[in-house]
Amino acid sequence: MTYDLVVIGAGPGGYVCAIRAAQLGMKVAVVEKMKTLGGTCLNIGCIPSKALLYASEMFEEAAHGLAPLGVVVAAPKLDLAAMMKHKDDTVAANVNGVAFLFKKNKIDSVFGEGFIAAPGKVGVKGEDGNQKTLEAKAIVIATGSDVARLPGVEIDEKTVVSSTGALSLPKVPKKLIVVGAGVIGLELGSVWRRLGAEVTVVEFLDRILPGMDSEVAKSFQRLLEKQGFAFHLAHKVAKVEKAGGGLKATIEPAAGGDANTIEADVVLVAIGRRPFTQNLGLEALGVKMDRGMVIVDDHFATSAPGVYAIGDVIRGPMLAHKAEDEGVALAELLAGQAGHVNYGVIPGVVYTNPEIASVGKTEDELKAEGVAYKVGKFPFTANGRARAMRHTDGFVKILADAATDRVLGAHILGFGAGEMIHEAAVLMEFGGSSEDLARTCHAHPTMSEAVKEAALAVAKRAIHV
Ligand SMILES: Cc1cc2nc3c(=O)[nH]c(=O)nc-3n(C[C@H](O)[C@H](O)[C@H](O)COP(=O)(O)OP(=O)(O)OC[C@H]3O[C@@H](n4cnc5c(N)ncnc54)[C@H](O)[C@@H]3O)c2cc1C
Repeated sequence: MTYDLVVIGAGPGGYVCAIRAAQLGMKVAVVEKMKTLGGTCLNIGCIPSKALLYASEMFEEAAHGLAPLGVVVAAPKLDLAAMMKHKDDTVAANVNGVAFLFKKNKIDSVFGEGFIAAPGKVGVKGEDGNQKTLEAKAIVIATGSDVARLPGVEIDEKTVVSSTGALSLPKVPKKLIVVGAGVIGLELGSVWRRLGAEVTVVEFLDRILPGMDSEVAKSFQRLLEKQGFAFHLAHKVAKVEKAGGGLKATIEPAAGGDANTIEADVVLVAIGRRPFTQNLGLEALGVKMDRGMVIVDDHFATSAPGVYAIGDVIRGPMLAHKAEDEGVALAELLAGQAGHVNYGVIPGVVYTNPEIASVGKTEDELKAEGVAYKVGKFPFTANGRARAMRHTDGFVKILADAATDRVLGAHILGFGAGEMIHEAAVLMEFGGSSEDLARTCHAHPTMSEAVKEAALAVAKRAIHV
């Protein structure tokens, strides 16, 4: 039998592409080398990290957040094993959900390591050493990404861990060093700080969350410092050694200068991720690459006929929903429809407390591009619902084109930002203006009223500040 489509990799890119293709009448197989479906995101990424972020937030809330509301509880006790079970159960429910969807859509899952043996042929090496070949009219590379390594620092997933090890530490470290102040480092650093670790973040750049709006990042850093995070910005970790029963990290100023050492019992390396393209047979096929990334055209086609790529393995932000949207668009294109991804409107969320959410251009980008823009800001301290919930940290910032008023970017630092951002995303998809947002009736009292007020503030007519 020849499949219409064989997808290599069952992450959010691959499994969503497979489901959409099956919905459109294609016969589909998905090859996956992990034991379960769902990829990085469901197994060792988005989902387990959010399970631990939620549980640890509840722990901290119970310890410090409830008494001011008049809810007096005994000092909460951490049952880390139960928290990890909650995480594992959440992962299991999600990956089993994908398996159910595959069955429902009559998609064949083939477990083993996939590679492109020849045009139209996907080889699969099973764990038992047996190999089989699937015939395919179209092949999708959706093999995702892997942890980026730091020279001189060997990850053993016990004391020197990547995000994967940091999701399963058997006990709370007394001292945790996080290398890299990106989203993953700050999220997992938050988990362990809430559970009792002393967290020090070392970042090569002179700011946290590179790529996010710098005003938001600065305010957020102050909030993290209040929570107990320590930062060494503009520093690099040169080496990590075993010392006594723990670890000693040598850090150096990025611009050169005297080295320093920091002790820890766990070091988390979270300096980013790189596309995973090893042993796929891409070189032999002549698939063009750029620094490990698969080069694709606007229709996700690689330079090899019949071979496509989506998700973390290609350009663009390494985000699950970006991979999913590419999966849908590619399936639709293969079915002769007009699949499309609007890369200008891909929200990004940092699931810390408070959360950060953004969509569209940052103020830094607009400045660099020389775009004339207006800014509207509104703080949560002036929002009634935020006060009622004691979640007054942060603000909403709307960026609109100075001439047309079209919203170019929205940035929210605040409780629930990851949910609130979508009204800005929908508005931007429809090319909406700050006035459109400002004239949309928002329910009272909601945190979302701050989004409306920030939109009003673009025209200097916010009501509540
Ligand atoms: C700790 C952490 C937290 C994250 N949190 C978020 C978040 O909150 N929100 C968000 O949007 N993104 C988050 N991400 C990023 C997100 O996980 C990725 O962007 C997303 O998983 C990319 O999807 P993908 O389908 O391209 O690849 P992946 O999910 O990486 O899936 C690729 C799959 O391909 C398989 N594979 C690779 N090579 C082969 C082969 N040769 N044969 C067979 N199978 C193969 C892999 O085993 C894997 O299952 C997080 C990542 C991490 C590590």
